[in-house]
Amino acid sequence: MSKSLLSAKELGLVSCHDCHLLSRWPNLASDQTANCPRCGCALHQRKPNSIARTWALLIAAIILYIPANLLPMTITSALGTVSEDTIMSGVIYFVQSGSWEIALVIFTASVFVPFMKFLILIYLLLSVQFKSIKRPKDRTVLYRVTEAVGRWSMVDVYVVTILVALVKLGMLAEIEAGPAAFYFASVVVSTMVAAESFDPRLIWDVVEEDE
Ligand SMILES: [Zn+2]
Repeated sequence: MSKSLLSAKELGLVSCHDCHLLSRWPNLASDQTANCPRCGCALHQRKPNSIARTWALLIAAIILYIPANLLPMTITSALGTVSEDTIMSGVIYFVQSGSWEIALVIFTASVFVPFMKFLILIYLLLSVQFKSIKRPKDRTVLYRVTEAVGRWSMVDVYVVTILVALVKLGMLAEIEAGPAAFYFASVVVSTMVAAESFDPRLIWDVVEEDE
């Protein structure tokens, strides 16, 4: 990589989070905070405590993922019998009843995607903490993918909502969203905020320090 590419940080510049004004980073003592000369918002060269925040939110998401999978996602009662379905028993139910497309959507959105996001964020955090200089460009792409799929992770909650609405319209059975829906929504939100707290520039800081 050419050393002619200097980051804003190396040039002593900083961009405002809110109004995006590029200004000169003032020389301050470590306990002082810099403010944007235009809008007054606090300036940071990198997202503050990025690694610790991302870890905290990620661990919270992983803990919430346990009740999201173990507790019932839907509670159905038809003709006096009540059945509770977790995410996995729902997937199995749809496979057995021949609707493998629905099973695939639920499995991808509720099991595969959240699990991949956990793995990618753990990998990115560890690679920065252990000052890895390997494949920074690929790691940036991984980060971009993680951020982009965030908004699609709520699909499972939508499926439950639509199912509840459909069954209620049919009036043949009673269906309610189970407690897992709340935990699952919390997993999605914490993972999205975790991804947002991670500063991908840290990947390149390590690489540039090494040169
Ligand atoms: Zn500003």
